[in-house]
Amino acid sequence: MESNSIHNQVTQEIERLSGVKLKWPKLPPLLEERFEQNIAGQRATHLWYQGLIAIVLFDLFAVIDYCIGDGNSWSAIILRAGIITPLALLVNASMRWNPGKVYREASVAAVIGLAGLSQLYIAMDKSPASSAYAQAALIIVILFANLVMRLPFTYALSTSAVMFGADLIFIHFDRFLSPVEQTLGIMLTGFSVTISLVANFSFGRHLRLVYLMLLRNEMQSEELAYVNAELHRISNRDNLTGLANRHSFELYCGTLWQQTMADGTLLSAIVIDIDRFKAVNDLRGHLYGDKVLTRVASLLQQSLRGKDDFAARFGGEEFVVLLPQTSQRSALIVAERIRKLVEVAGSPAVESADSSTVLPTTVSCGVATCLPGDPFCIEDLLEAADKALYEAKRTGRNRVCAGEVSRSDGSRKHEELVGSRIGAQSESTLRATARKVLWG
Ligand code: GH3
Ligand code: MG
Ligand code: MG
Repeated sequence: MESNSIHNQVTQEIERLSGVKLKWPKLPPLLEERFEQNIAGQRATHLWYQGLIAIVLFDLFAVIDYCIGDGNSWSAIILRAGIITPLALLVNASMRWNPGKVYREASVAAVIGLAGLSQLYIAMDKSPASSAYAQAALIIVILFANLVMRLPFTYALSTSAVMFGADLIFIHFDRFLSPVEQTLGIMLTGFSVTISLVANFSFGRHLRLVYLMLLRNEMQSEELAYVNAELHRISNRDNLTGLANRHSFELYCGTLWQQTMADGTLLSAIVIDIDRFKAVNDLRGHLYGDKVLTRVASLLQQSLRGKDDFAARFGGEEFVVLLPQTSQRSALIVAERIRKLVEVAGSPAVESADSSTVLPTTVSCGVATCLPGDPFCIEDLLEAADKALYEAKRTGRNRVCAGEVSRSDGSRKHEELVGSRIGAQSESTLRATARKVLWG
Protein backbone atom coordinates (compact mmCIF):
# COMPACT_ATOMS: atom_id res chain seq x y z
CA MET A 1 0.00 0.00 0.00
CA GLU A 2 2.69 2.44 1.14
CA SER A 3 4.98 1.56 -1.74
CA ASN A 4 2.05 2.03 -4.11
CA SER A 5 1.31 5.51 -2.81
CA ILE A 6 5.01 6.47 -2.98
CA HIS A 7 5.12 5.17 -6.51
CA ASN A 8 2.11 7.35 -7.45
CA GLN A 9 3.58 10.39 -5.74
CA VAL A 10 6.91 9.90 -7.52
CA THR A 11 5.19 9.68 -10.90
CA GLN A 12 3.04 12.76 -10.20
CA GLU A 13 6.02 14.78 -8.99
CA ILE A 14 8.10 13.81 -12.03
CA GLU A 15 5.27 15.06 -14.23
CA ARG A 16 4.90 18.25 -12.18
CA LEU A 17 8.61 19.10 -12.17
CA SER A 18 9.16 18.15 -15.82
CA GLY A 19 6.71 20.81 -17.03
CA VAL A 20 7.97 23.98 -18.69
CA LYS A 21 6.42 26.30 -16.10
CA LEU A 22 8.32 27.34 -12.98
CA LYS A 23 7.51 24.73 -10.34
CA TRP A 24 8.25 25.14 -6.65
CA PRO A 25 11.33 22.97 -5.94
CA LYS A 26 9.89 21.20 -2.94
CA LEU A 27 8.39 17.71 -2.82
CA PRO A 28 5.48 16.39 -0.71
CA PRO A 29 6.65 15.84 2.92
CA LEU A 30 7.30 12.09 2.63
CA LEU A 31 9.35 12.40 -0.55
CA GLU A 32 11.13 15.54 0.65
CA GLU A 33 12.17 13.58 3.76
CA ARG A 34 13.51 10.69 1.66
CA PHE A 35 15.28 13.16 -0.62
CA GLU A 36 16.88 14.84 2.38
CA GLN A 37 18.01 11.48 3.82
CA ASN A 38 19.51 10.65 0.46
CA ILE A 39 21.52 13.83 0.00
CA ALA A 40 22.30 14.78 3.63
CA GLY A 41 25.77 13.18 3.85
CA GLN A 42 26.94 14.45 0.48
CA ARG A 43 25.50 17.91 1.11
CA ALA A 44 27.36 18.28 4.43
CA THR A 45 30.64 17.21 2.77
CA HIS A 46 30.01 19.63 -0.10
CA LEU A 47 29.46 22.49 2.36
CA TRP A 48 32.55 21.51 4.33
CA TYR A 49 34.94 21.62 1.33
CA GLN A 50 33.45 24.68 -0.34
CA GLY A 51 33.17 26.44 3.01
CA LEU A 52 36.92 26.03 3.54
CA ILE A 53 37.70 27.56 0.15
CA ALA A 54 35.27 30.41 0.86
CA ILE A 55 36.86 31.16 4.23
CA VAL A 56 40.33 31.39 2.65
CA LEU A 57 39.01 33.70 -0.10
CA PHE A 58 37.12 35.80 2.43
CA ASP A 59 40.34 36.38 4.37
CA LEU A 60 42.26 37.15 1.17
CA PHE A 61 39.87 40.08 0.70
CA ALA A 62 41.97 41.70 3.44
CA VAL A 63 44.53 42.51 0.73
CA ILE A 64 41.89 44.51 -1.13
CA ASP A 65 40.76 46.13 2.12
CA TYR A 66 44.37 47.25 2.63
CA CYS A 67 44.71 48.59 -0.92
CA ILE A 68 41.53 50.65 -0.85
CA GLY A 69 41.55 51.47 2.86
CA ASP A 70 42.34 54.86 4.34
CA GLY A 71 44.21 53.67 7.39
CA ASN A 72 41.27 51.78 8.82
CA SER A 73 42.30 48.34 7.58
CA TRP A 74 42.99 47.08 11.12
CA SER A 75 39.33 47.20 12.01
CA ALA A 76 38.67 45.26 8.79
CA ILE A 77 41.26 42.62 9.75
CA ILE A 78 39.72 42.26 13.21
CA LEU A 79 36.25 41.89 11.71
CA ARG A 80 37.42 39.36 9.11
CA ALA A 81 39.96 37.27 11.05
CA GLY A 82 38.72 37.84 14.59
CA ILE A 83 34.96 37.52 14.25
CA ILE A 84 33.65 36.19 10.94
CA THR A 85 36.40 33.63 10.27
CA PRO A 86 36.21 31.83 13.66
CA LEU A 87 32.43 31.76 13.38
CA ALA A 88 32.61 30.40 9.83
CA LEU A 89 35.21 27.80 10.87
CA LEU A 90 32.97 26.68 13.72
CA VAL A 91 29.95 26.26 11.45
CA ASN A 92 32.13 24.60 8.84
CA ALA A 93 33.58 22.11 11.33
CA SER A 94 30.06 21.21 12.52
CA MET A 95 29.34 19.94 8.98
CA ARG A 96 31.63 16.99 9.76
CA TRP A 97 28.98 15.74 12.22
CA ASN A 98 26.31 15.61 9.57
CA PRO A 99 23.81 17.96 11.26
CA GLY A 100 20.06 18.15 10.56
CA LYS A 101 18.82 20.09 7.57
CA VAL A 102 17.55 23.23 9.34
CA TYR A 103 20.76 23.76 11.35
CA ARG A 104 22.94 22.89 8.37
CA GLU A 105 21.36 25.32 5.93
CA ALA A 106 20.41 28.05 8.41
CA SER A 107 23.90 28.24 9.97
CA VAL A 108 25.59 28.39 6.56
CA ALA A 109 23.08 31.00 5.36
CA ALA A 110 23.63 33.09 8.52
CA VAL A 111 27.42 33.06 8.16
CA ILE A 112 27.23 33.97 4.48
CA GLY A 113 24.79 36.77 5.32
CA LEU A 114 27.17 38.08 7.98
CA ALA A 115 30.08 37.88 5.53
CA GLY A 116 28.06 39.94 3.02
CA LEU A 117 27.15 42.57 5.61
CA SER A 118 30.76 42.76 6.81
CA GLN A 119 31.88 43.42 3.22
CA LEU A 120 29.53 46.42 3.14
CA TYR A 121 30.56 47.59 6.59
CA ILE A 122 34.27 47.39 5.77
CA ALA A 123 34.11 49.14 2.38
CA MET A 124 31.23 51.58 2.39
CA ASP A 125 31.59 55.25 3.00
CA LYS A 126 35.42 55.26 3.09
CA SER A 127 36.36 56.49 -0.36
CA PRO A 128 34.74 56.53 -3.84
CA ALA A 129 36.79 53.43 -4.90
CA SER A 130 35.94 51.59 -1.70
CA SER A 131 32.20 52.28 -2.06
CA ALA A 132 32.21 50.93 -5.62
CA TYR A 133 34.21 47.91 -4.51
CA ALA A 134 31.64 47.23 -1.72
CA GLN A 135 29.01 46.60 -4.39
CA ALA A 136 31.26 44.17 -6.26
CA ALA A 137 32.19 42.33 -3.05
CA LEU A 138 28.54 42.00 -2.04
CA ILE A 139 27.60 40.66 -5.47
CA ILE A 140 30.33 38.00 -5.15
CA VAL A 141 28.94 36.93 -1.78
CA ILE A 142 25.39 36.74 -3.20
CA LEU A 143 26.54 34.63 -6.17
CA PHE A 144 28.53 32.41 -3.82
CA ALA A 145 25.48 31.79 -1.57
CA ASN A 146 23.03 31.07 -4.38
CA LEU A 147 25.21 29.35 -6.97
CA VAL A 148 28.22 27.80 -5.23
CA MET A 149 26.82 26.83 -1.85
CA ARG A 150 23.43 26.34 -3.51
CA LEU A 151 21.41 27.10 -0.42
CA PRO A 152 17.89 25.63 -0.62
CA PHE A 153 15.68 28.17 -2.38
CA THR A 154 13.89 29.58 0.68
CA TYR A 155 17.22 30.05 2.50
CA ALA A 156 18.79 31.59 -0.62
CA LEU A 157 15.82 33.94 -0.98
CA SER A 158 15.96 35.07 2.66
CA THR A 159 19.74 35.56 2.69
CA SER A 160 19.65 37.46 -0.60
CA ALA A 161 16.78 39.64 0.66
CA VAL A 162 18.70 40.52 3.84
CA MET A 163 21.87 41.36 1.88
CA PHE A 164 19.97 43.36 -0.72
CA GLY A 165 18.07 45.26 2.00
CA ALA A 166 21.35 46.05 3.79
CA ASP A 167 22.82 47.20 0.48
CA LEU A 168 19.94 49.66 0.00
CA ILE A 169 20.56 51.09 3.46
CA PHE A 170 24.33 51.33 2.99
CA ILE A 171 23.96 52.94 -0.43
CA HIS A 172 21.44 55.40 0.94
CA PHE A 173 23.90 56.58 3.61
CA ASP A 174 27.04 56.44 1.47
CA ARG A 175 28.49 59.94 0.96
CA PHE A 176 30.85 59.01 -1.87
CA LEU A 177 28.33 57.67 -4.38
CA SER A 178 26.53 60.02 -6.73
CA PRO A 179 22.80 59.39 -7.29
CA VAL A 180 23.61 57.77 -10.66
CA GLU A 181 26.21 55.50 -9.06
CA GLN A 182 23.75 54.60 -6.32
CA THR A 183 21.12 53.62 -8.88
CA LEU A 184 23.70 51.66 -10.82
CA GLY A 185 24.84 49.84 -7.67
CA ILE A 186 21.29 48.94 -6.68
CA MET A 187 20.51 47.70 -10.19
CA LEU A 188 23.64 45.54 -10.40
CA THR A 189 23.01 43.95 -7.01
CA GLY A 190 19.33 43.51 -7.87
CA PHE A 191 20.17 41.81 -11.18
CA SER A 192 22.69 39.52 -9.46
CA VAL A 193 20.15 38.56 -6.82
CA THR A 194 17.47 37.87 -9.45
CA ILE A 195 19.65 35.89 -11.86
CA SER A 196 21.31 33.79 -9.17
CA LEU A 197 17.96 33.08 -7.51
CA VAL A 198 16.48 31.90 -10.82
CA ALA A 199 19.48 29.60 -11.31
CA ASN A 200 19.19 28.40 -7.70
CA PHE A 201 15.48 27.70 -8.20
CA SER A 202 16.13 25.69 -11.39
CA PHE A 203 18.94 23.81 -9.73
CA GLY A 204 16.70 22.78 -6.78
CA ARG A 205 14.03 21.61 -9.21
CA HIS A 206 16.50 19.74 -11.39
CA LEU A 207 18.15 18.04 -8.42
CA ARG A 208 14.78 16.76 -7.19
CA LEU A 209 13.78 15.65 -10.66
CA VAL A 210 16.97 13.59 -11.06
CA TYR A 211 16.45 12.10 -7.59
CA LEU A 212 12.85 11.16 -8.40
CA MET A 213 13.86 9.53 -11.68
CA LEU A 214 16.54 7.48 -9.94
CA LEU A 215 14.04 6.55 -7.23
CA ARG A 216 11.51 5.49 -9.86
CA ASN A 217 14.14 3.33 -11.61
CA GLU A 218 15.10 1.78 -8.30
CA MET A 219 11.46 1.04 -7.44
CA GLN A 220 10.82 -0.41 -10.88
CA SER A 221 13.89 -2.68 -10.56
CA GLU A 222 12.70 -3.83 -7.14
CA GLU A 223 9.22 -4.55 -8.49
CA LEU A 224 10.68 -6.44 -11.43
CA ALA A 225 12.89 -8.52 -9.15
CA TYR A 226 9.85 -9.28 -6.95
CA VAL A 227 7.68 -10.27 -9.93
CA ASN A 228 10.52 -12.44 -11.29
CA ALA A 229 10.96 -14.17 -7.94
CA GLU A 230 7.19 -14.70 -7.71
CA LEU A 231 7.06 -16.08 -11.26
CA HIS A 232 9.94 -18.36 -10.47
CA ARG A 233 8.22 -19.53 -7.30
CA ILE A 234 4.91 -20.14 -9.10
CA SER A 235 6.55 -22.00 -11.96
CA ASN A 236 8.38 -24.27 -9.52
CA ARG A 237 5.55 -25.00 -7.07
CA ASP A 238 2.66 -27.38 -7.36
CA ASN A 239 -0.50 -25.28 -7.02
CA LEU A 240 -2.48 -27.76 -4.99
CA THR A 241 0.02 -29.07 -2.46
CA GLY A 242 2.62 -26.32 -2.39
CA LEU A 243 5.41 -28.88 -2.89
CA ALA A 244 7.97 -28.56 -5.68
CA ASN A 245 6.39 -29.54 -9.00
CA ARG A 246 7.72 -31.98 -11.55
CA HIS A 247 9.54 -29.30 -13.52
CA SER A 248 11.34 -28.12 -10.43
CA PHE A 249 12.08 -31.72 -9.46
CA GLU A 250 13.71 -32.41 -12.81
CA LEU A 251 15.88 -29.30 -12.58
CA TYR A 252 16.92 -30.09 -9.03
CA CYS A 253 17.52 -33.74 -9.83
CA GLY A 254 20.14 -32.94 -12.46
CA THR A 255 22.03 -30.58 -10.18
CA LEU A 256 21.86 -32.92 -7.22
CA TRP A 257 23.04 -35.85 -9.28
CA GLN A 258 26.11 -33.93 -10.46
CA GLN A 259 26.82 -32.68 -6.98
CA THR A 260 26.60 -36.05 -5.27
CA MET A 261 28.66 -37.54 -8.08
CA ALA A 262 31.38 -34.95 -7.46
CA ASP A 263 31.17 -35.49 -3.69
CA GLY A 264 31.22 -39.27 -4.07
CA THR A 265 28.27 -39.65 -1.69
CA LEU A 266 25.14 -41.80 -1.83
CA LEU A 267 21.80 -40.60 -3.11
CA SER A 268 18.49 -42.17 -2.12
CA ALA A 269 15.05 -41.75 -3.65
CA ILE A 270 11.64 -42.62 -2.24
CA VAL A 271 8.62 -42.84 -4.53
CA ILE A 272 5.35 -42.54 -2.59
CA ASP A 273 1.86 -43.32 -3.87
CA ILE A 274 -1.46 -42.93 -2.05
CA ASP A 275 -3.24 -46.27 -1.78
CA ARG A 276 -6.58 -46.78 -3.47
CA PHE A 277 -6.97 -43.09 -4.09
CA LYS A 278 -9.36 -43.57 -6.93
CA ALA A 279 -11.87 -44.97 -4.44
CA VAL A 280 -11.51 -41.83 -2.31
CA ASN A 281 -12.33 -39.68 -5.31
CA ASP A 282 -15.18 -41.90 -6.39
CA LEU A 283 -16.73 -42.00 -2.94
CA ARG A 284 -16.18 -38.47 -1.69
CA GLY A 285 -15.55 -36.49 -4.85
CA HIS A 286 -12.50 -34.80 -6.33
CA LEU A 287 -12.58 -31.80 -4.02
CA TYR A 288 -12.27 -34.04 -1.00
CA GLY A 289 -9.57 -35.99 -2.85
CA ASP A 290 -7.67 -32.74 -3.35
CA LYS A 291 -7.78 -32.06 0.39
CA VAL A 292 -6.39 -35.52 1.10
CA LEU A 293 -3.57 -34.91 -1.39
CA THR A 294 -2.71 -31.62 0.31
CA ARG A 295 -2.77 -33.26 3.74
CA VAL A 296 -0.51 -36.11 2.64
CA ALA A 297 1.90 -33.60 1.07
CA SER A 298 2.04 -31.71 4.34
CA LEU A 299 2.65 -34.90 6.35
CA LEU A 300 5.34 -35.86 3.86
CA GLN A 301 7.10 -32.56 4.34
CA GLN A 302 6.86 -32.92 8.12
CA SER A 303 8.55 -36.31 7.97
CA LEU A 304 11.72 -34.92 6.39
CA ARG A 305 14.46 -33.89 8.77
CA GLY A 306 17.59 -33.36 6.62
CA LYS A 307 18.14 -29.80 5.45
CA ASP A 308 18.82 -30.95 1.89
CA ASP A 309 15.96 -33.47 1.72
CA PHE A 310 13.75 -32.58 -1.21
CA ALA A 311 10.08 -33.53 -1.76
CA ALA A 312 8.08 -33.00 -4.94
CA ARG A 313 4.71 -33.95 -6.36
CA PHE A 314 5.61 -36.26 -9.17
CA GLY A 315 2.13 -36.29 -10.70
CA GLY A 316 -1.40 -37.38 -9.72
CA GLU A 317 -1.27 -38.93 -6.25
CA GLU A 318 2.41 -39.77 -6.48
CA PHE A 319 5.25 -38.03 -4.68
CA VAL A 320 9.01 -38.36 -4.75
CA VAL A 321 11.61 -37.58 -2.12
CA LEU A 322 15.35 -37.20 -2.76
CA LEU A 323 17.71 -37.76 0.15
CA PRO A 324 21.31 -36.72 -0.54
CA GLN A 325 24.14 -38.34 1.43
CA THR A 326 21.74 -41.01 2.66
CA SER A 327 22.31 -44.76 2.74
CA GLN A 328 19.56 -47.18 1.91
CA ARG A 329 19.19 -48.12 5.57
CA SER A 330 18.52 -44.48 6.50
CA ALA A 331 16.24 -43.97 3.49
CA LEU A 332 14.15 -46.96 4.62
CA ILE A 333 13.80 -45.34 8.04
CA VAL A 334 12.59 -42.11 6.44
CA ALA A 335 10.15 -43.99 4.18
CA GLU A 336 8.78 -45.92 7.15
CA ARG A 337 8.38 -42.64 9.06
CA ILE A 338 6.35 -41.22 6.16
CA ARG A 339 4.20 -44.34 5.89
CA LYS A 340 3.56 -44.45 9.62
CA LEU A 341 2.75 -40.74 9.90
CA VAL A 342 0.19 -40.95 7.09
CA GLU A 343 -1.27 -44.11 8.61
CA VAL A 344 -1.62 -42.54 12.05
CA ALA A 345 -2.70 -39.09 10.92
CA GLY A 346 -4.62 -40.31 7.90
CA SER A 347 -7.58 -42.25 9.28
CA PRO A 348 -9.20 -40.32 7.78
CA ALA A 349 -6.64 -37.81 6.55
CA VAL A 350 -9.30 -35.17 6.26
CA GLU A 351 -12.59 -34.98 8.16
CA SER A 352 -15.63 -35.43 5.95
CA ALA A 353 -19.29 -34.56 6.38
CA ASP A 354 -20.10 -38.09 5.24
CA SER A 355 -18.97 -40.33 8.13
CA SER A 356 -20.94 -43.41 7.09
CA THR A 357 -17.91 -45.01 5.42
CA VAL A 358 -14.48 -44.72 6.97
CA LEU A 359 -11.81 -44.17 4.35
CA PRO A 360 -8.39 -44.39 5.93
CA THR A 361 -5.57 -42.95 3.89
CA THR A 362 -2.36 -44.90 3.58
CA VAL A 363 0.66 -44.73 1.31
CA SER A 364 3.05 -47.25 -0.21
CA CYS A 365 6.73 -46.37 -0.64
CA GLY A 366 9.49 -47.63 -2.91
CA VAL A 367 13.07 -46.91 -1.86
CA ALA A 368 16.28 -47.09 -3.89
CA THR A 369 19.85 -45.90 -3.29
CA CYS A 370 22.90 -45.59 -5.49
CA LEU A 371 26.31 -44.02 -5.79
CA PRO A 372 25.75 -41.50 -8.60
CA GLY A 373 27.97 -41.91 -11.63
CA ASP A 374 28.98 -44.81 -13.73
CA PRO A 375 27.28 -47.16 -14.32
CA PHE A 376 24.03 -45.58 -13.12
CA CYS A 377 22.05 -42.58 -14.15
CA ILE A 378 19.23 -40.80 -12.33
CA GLU A 379 16.59 -42.66 -14.34
CA ASP A 380 17.99 -45.96 -13.03
CA LEU A 381 17.59 -44.74 -9.46
CA LEU A 382 14.00 -43.58 -9.99
CA GLU A 383 13.13 -46.70 -11.92
CA ALA A 384 14.43 -48.89 -9.08
CA ALA A 385 12.38 -46.88 -6.54
CA ASP A 386 9.33 -47.18 -8.80
CA LYS A 387 9.79 -50.94 -9.10
CA ALA A 388 10.04 -51.17 -5.31
CA LEU A 389 6.80 -49.16 -5.05
CA TYR A 390 5.12 -51.59 -7.43
CA GLU A 391 6.31 -54.40 -5.17
CA ALA A 392 4.83 -52.63 -2.12
CA LYS A 393 1.51 -52.34 -3.94
CA ARG A 394 1.64 -55.94 -5.07
CA THR A 395 2.34 -57.28 -1.61
CA GLY A 396 -0.58 -55.54 0.09
CA ARG A 397 -0.04 -51.68 0.10
CA ASN A 398 0.61 -49.48 3.17
CA ARG A 399 4.18 -50.73 3.23
CA VAL A 400 7.76 -49.84 2.30
CA CYS A 401 9.86 -51.90 -0.12
CA ALA A 402 13.46 -51.43 -1.23
CA GLY A 403 14.75 -51.95 -4.75
CA GLU A 404 18.17 -52.55 -6.24
CA VAL A 405 19.42 -50.11 -8.83
CA SER A 406 20.43 -51.72 -12.06
CA ARG A 407 21.51 -50.33 -15.38
CA SER A 408 18.34 -50.31 -17.42
CA ASP A 409 19.39 -48.95 -20.82
CA GLY A 410 21.85 -51.34 -22.42
CA SER A 411 22.34 -49.11 -25.45
CA ARG A 412 23.64 -46.21 -23.37
CA LYS A 413 27.30 -45.64 -24.00
CA HIS A 414 29.61 -46.15 -21.09
CA GLU A 415 31.54 -42.95 -21.93
CA GLU A 416 28.41 -40.84 -21.52
CA LEU A 417 28.00 -41.97 -17.99
CA VAL A 418 31.49 -41.66 -16.62
CA GLY A 419 31.62 -38.78 -14.16
CA SER A 420 34.70 -36.65 -13.68
CA ARG A 421 35.44 -38.05 -10.23
CA ILE A 422 35.56 -41.65 -11.38
CA GLY A 423 36.76 -41.27 -14.93
CA ALA A 424 39.87 -43.35 -14.38
CA GLN A 425 38.16 -46.28 -12.68
CA SER A 426 36.92 -49.35 -14.49
CA GLU A 427 33.21 -50.11 -14.69
CA SER A 428 33.50 -53.36 -12.79
CA THR A 429 35.45 -51.77 -9.94
CA LEU A 430 32.78 -49.11 -9.62
CA ARG A 431 29.96 -51.58 -9.72
CA ALA A 432 31.68 -53.53 -6.97
CA THR A 433 32.25 -50.38 -4.91
CA ALA A 434 28.63 -49.29 -5.31
CA ARG A 435 27.33 -52.68 -4.28
CA LYS A 436 29.62 -52.74 -1.27
CA VAL A 437 28.48 -49.30 -0.08
CA LEU A 438 24.82 -50.11 -0.74
CA TRP A 439 24.43 -53.59 0.52
CA GLY A 440 27.40 -53.92 2.88
P1 GH3 B 1 -3.25 -47.77 -6.01
O1 GH3 B 1 -3.34 -48.15 -4.57
O2 GH3 B 1 -2.91 -48.93 -6.86
O3 GH3 B 1 -2.32 -46.66 -6.22
O4 GH3 B 1 -4.67 -47.32 -6.41
P2 GH3 B 1 -5.13 -45.88 -6.82
O5 GH3 B 1 -6.60 -45.84 -6.85
O6 GH3 B 1 -4.48 -44.89 -5.94
O7 GH3 B 1 -4.46 -45.72 -8.22
P3 GH3 B 1 -5.02 -45.27 -9.60
O8 GH3 B 1 -3.84 -45.00 -10.45
O9 GH3 B 1 -6.02 -46.28 -10.10
O10 GH3 B 1 -5.79 -43.94 -9.32
C1 GH3 B 1 -5.15 -42.76 -9.05
C2 GH3 B 1 -6.23 -41.71 -8.88
O11 GH3 B 1 -5.68 -40.50 -8.48
C3 GH3 B 1 -6.97 -41.47 -10.15
C4 GH3 B 1 -7.10 -39.98 -10.25
O12 GH3 B 1 -8.42 -39.61 -10.41
C5 GH3 B 1 -6.60 -39.51 -8.91
N1 GH3 B 1 -5.92 -38.24 -9.04
C6 GH3 B 1 -4.79 -37.94 -9.72
N2 GH3 B 1 -4.50 -36.63 -9.58
C7 GH3 B 1 -5.47 -36.08 -8.77
C8 GH3 B 1 -5.71 -34.77 -8.26
O13 GH3 B 1 -4.98 -33.81 -8.51
N3 GH3 B 1 -6.78 -34.61 -7.47
C9 GH3 B 1 -7.62 -35.64 -7.17
N4 GH3 B 1 -8.66 -35.42 -6.37
N5 GH3 B 1 -7.41 -36.89 -7.65
C10 GH3 B 1 -6.36 -37.11 -8.43
MG1 MG C 1 -2.45 -44.72 -5.87
MG1 MG D 1 -0.53 -43.74 -8.84
